[in-house]
Amino acid sequence: MAGLAAAYELATSGAEVIVLEGSDRLGGKLRLGEVGGLTLDLGAESILARRPEALDLIHAIGLDDHVVNPQTSAASIWTRGALRTMPPTVMGIPADVAALAESGIAEVDAHVVAVTDEDISVAEFVTARLGHEVLDRLVEPLLGGVYAGHADQLSLRATAPQIAALGPDLLAGATSARAAATDSGPVFAGLVGGVGQLPAVVAATPGIEVRVDATVRSVVRTTDEWRLSVGPTTDVETLEVDAVVIAAPAPAAARLLAEVAPEAAFALAAIDYASVAIVTYVFEGQSFDEPRAFAGSGFLVPPVDNTFIKAATVSSNKWGWVGDLGRTVIRASVGRAGEATLLQHDDADIAERALADLRAAFGGLPEPVDSLVQRWGGGLPQYDVGHIDRVETIDRSIASVPGLEVCGAAYRGVGIPAVIASGRAAARRLLDAGTIKP
Ligand SMILES: Cc1cc2nc3c(=O)[nH]c(=O)nc-3n(C[C@H](O)[C@H](O)[C@H](O)COP(=O)(O)OP(=O)(O)OC[C@H]3O[C@@H](n4cnc5c(N)ncnc54)[C@H](O)[C@@H]3O)c2cc1C
Repeated sequence: MAGLAAAYELATSGAEVIVLEGSDRLGGKLRLGEVGGLTLDLGAESILARRPEALDLIHAIGLDDHVVNPQTSAASIWTRGALRTMPPTVMGIPADVAALAESGIAEVDAHVVAVTDEDISVAEFVTARLGHEVLDRLVEPLLGGVYAGHADQLSLRATAPQIAALGPDLLAGATSARAAATDSGPVFAGLVGGVGQLPAVVAATPGIEVRVDATVRSVVRTTDEWRLSVGPTTDVETLEVDAVVIAAPAPAAARLLAEVAPEAAFALAAIDYASVAIVTYVFEGQSFDEPRAFAGSGFLVPPVDNTFIKAATVSSNKWGWVGDLGRTVIRASVGRAGEATLLQHDDADIAERALADLRAAFGGLPEPVDSLVQRWGGGLPQYDVGHIDRVETIDRSIASVPGLEVCGAAYRGVGIPAVIASGRAAARRLLDAGTIKP
């Protein structure tokens, strides 16, 4: 999506753009697929609406009439043997202590501690101020939902700046931040038909040529242009272009940059990734009582509860367009950073284990009509402590090479709006530098 956003910015400014996609389909983590005869998102499914960049692009490509908000955002935490309503929080920091106490999720051990600029882990920051339970049972599952990571590794500044911004008294900060945010409209948006439609619509912009099965193998700078080796090893094609935007995940970007920007390549190679899988189940609507009784959007699971799944979304509750398909659709997600062994099972086994967890959480479920395991190996970059410095190193290294840019989830945000912003900004820098003459 980052690469397509860059292509969009360049093409609409008059440049001729070739998008080289290594796999056989566009879109990366935005992907539609069929489960039980329904076309559903198998990767990302929801867009943060509090940032403008994704909705701006959706507007620009004419998909405005597809934009919807979730029907419910009532999430639960599955912990201590029950689904418990998640109290209001700011990224897991309780904003209503009475609601937290009523939920039975965690007890707060509050201390007021000054905030410094030092980059420390989310775990270190939160436990010093609110104790282990809030970290383990609220902050960890939320971070797991976004980054599939662990709070003792993830950088506070890079992954949860909104927590640092709450100030020394986290509970008071969260309570007032929450009160200030209640009037700013829905937090999330989606597209009728799935956010996985976005890549193809962006790619249809005049001026963008898309090639799939076109893995970029090397990127070399000649005196006045760039030479790319593209395609299968048995049939490598050379392509000469004015400028290059590398929008691949960090390991691939590191390989491609080894010669032209070694410092950036070195920093990129240090970015770790979490592999995850999304298991989508479709159940016959009518025969299905329990999740009907469950009216919320889904639940998160704290890692301390040692379950197979880390979260579940009842898509047919969350999205009206999915509910209207007449079946019950549940997505379970599996895998956090460092837990690759969880995914070392065949698809049938993963689907069976995840279903067992769903049955335990919801108190029973019938046999699904169909299920599909979508693996996302190297799905989510981990912004570990030191990430911001690493990205600054990458920026400096890339900026020293004319006609070269990078963008994507490895840098300043993994969400759809953040990667779109990074793609468009990379393209703007090339245009502003005059490297590409429209
Ligand atoms: C399971 C899952 C669920 C998510 N859910 C959400 C969500 O609901 N909302 C949200 O905002 N975010 C979500 N995210 C995060 C978000 O979807 C991703 O961070 C974002 O889409 C990544 O976009 P990208 O363009 O940086 O990279 P990618 O989507 O990884 O795209 C990179 C592309 O580069 C290609 N490529 C790699 N190497 C080469 C090469 N050498 N030559 C040519 N092509 C190459 C790849 O095939 C791929 O298509 C989710 C992520 C995952 C894994």
